[in-house]
Amino acid sequence: MIALTHTRGQTWAVFGLARSGLATARALIAGGAEVRLWDDNVASRDIAAAAGFQPMQLHEAALIGCAGLALAPGVPLTHPVPNQVVANAQRAGLLIVGDIELLLRELKPAVYGITGTNGKSTTTALLAHILKSAGRSIALGGNIGQAVLELPRFNSPADGAYVIEMSSFQIDLTPDWQARIAVLLNITPDHLDRHGSMAAYAAIKARIFGGQAAGDTAVIGVDDDHCRAIHAALLAENSGRAVVPVSILRVLEQGVSAIDGMLYENGTPVFALDFPALPGAHNGQNIAAAYAAARAAGLDAETIHAGIASFPGLKHRLQRVGSIDGIACINDSKATNADSTEKALAAFDNVYWIAGGKAKEGGIASLKPLFPRIRRASLIGEAAADFAATLGSAVPHALCGTLDKALDDALAAARKDRLKDAVVLLSPACASYDQFKSFEHRGDEFIRLVTERSTGEQGAAA
Ligand code: ADP
Repeated sequence: MIALTHTRGQTWAVFGLARSGLATARALIAGGAEVRLWDDNVASRDIAAAAGFQPMQLHEAALIGCAGLALAPGVPLTHPVPNQVVANAQRAGLLIVGDIELLLRELKPAVYGITGTNGKSTTTALLAHILKSAGRSIALGGNIGQAVLELPRFNSPADGAYVIEMSSFQIDLTPDWQARIAVLLNITPDHLDRHGSMAAYAAIKARIFGGQAAGDTAVIGVDDDHCRAIHAALLAENSGRAVVPVSILRVLEQGVSAIDGMLYENGTPVFALDFPALPGAHNGQNIAAAYAAARAAGLDAETIHAGIASFPGLKHRLQRVGSIDGIACINDSKATNADSTEKALAAFDNVYWIAGGKAKEGGIASLKPLFPRIRRASLIGEAAADFAATLGSAVPHALCGTLDKALDDALAAARKDRLKDAVVLLSPACASYDQFKSFEHRGDEFIRLVTERSTGEQGAAA
């Protein structure tokens, strides 16, 4: 834990008591501050109370005398409207920040920050793994894994670096953000309800490069219009930082590219992208960005290759969980919308697809160009009938109801067809809440079902 000694003698309000909120409260108290904390959710308040805190409602009067409000990233700061406690704090003139800002005010650490609409967790975990495998002292946290204030204390960059996944909400709450290496992967529409407009969302994402100066490095995907505009602005700024573009669409003369199974640096092939834990072109973007960041951290290509090769992949994201009669079973439960499922379908040639759940707007019409890769669809949950209608006669399909029946249906079809490189792919293109507690619960259940049926050829890697 990182005690926030710079807040000694101050009083802080803490709002939002899930994971990072309680860690923040502990770090403030350990640093010598007094804390007033609250959550609108009764269950979260109960957890805080069980941990020994005494939650108190953060009316305007309760904020008097506070130095600041430490806000959880899940709480609306601006859109659709500021949360009531945020509005109270604004009226009281309080500083409103998140836990990452508090970390940066406490230490002057080396920070490697990663953001983007998609691929944040994969790239952050991959970069952390590469650095760790190379013997570097690093701590991983933020929007992935532990809250940053639960990480070990690095008093100076010589002690180690923080590798931090940053959501746009966390960037919004970190006014003094400055990363020695900052990565922006891509920008596509997401969370617009919380940001108001695409322009506002892109502007927040661009702040991952905020405060950078000579000696710092900006790694930026240049395959979408928003990122291309930010790249151009970075070049025009002439701040002395290094700018490294990343592409999976073309080989860049200057920058890092992942094209047709090969990684290129400044136009020269470096190594083949033969990493079973990171399939698909989209993972090429994540690999290229992590490579560029690791190079900026001083590693050579060979060391980085070894790090990528030993990366086990992330749970629920195109995770190979086992093999049954030679058929690989892939858990992509994190794919809760058609955009994510598109990446999964594009990564394989002969797909026995398990999909469905709580429907998202737009359904799967956007996946039509990928239908030729689907040998059969085994459909579950509320969206099954809708998906069946979209698949029509183009793809054989069955309404299976539940995940266990869908797995058996998919396996039976795959066994019968005996196609090369066949995969059973759970990539639902739906939220999980109609049948499961969360996408993690859905993925864990899939792992359990596959393990139960596994011949053990490859073993299940839960
Ligand atoms: P995030 O942390 O940004 O949500 P993850 O690394 O957890 O991203 O990946 C979530 C899903 O997003 C993956 O299952 C995949 O479908 C998709 N995805 C991952 N990386 C990329 C990328 N670079 N570009 C587009 N989509 C991606």
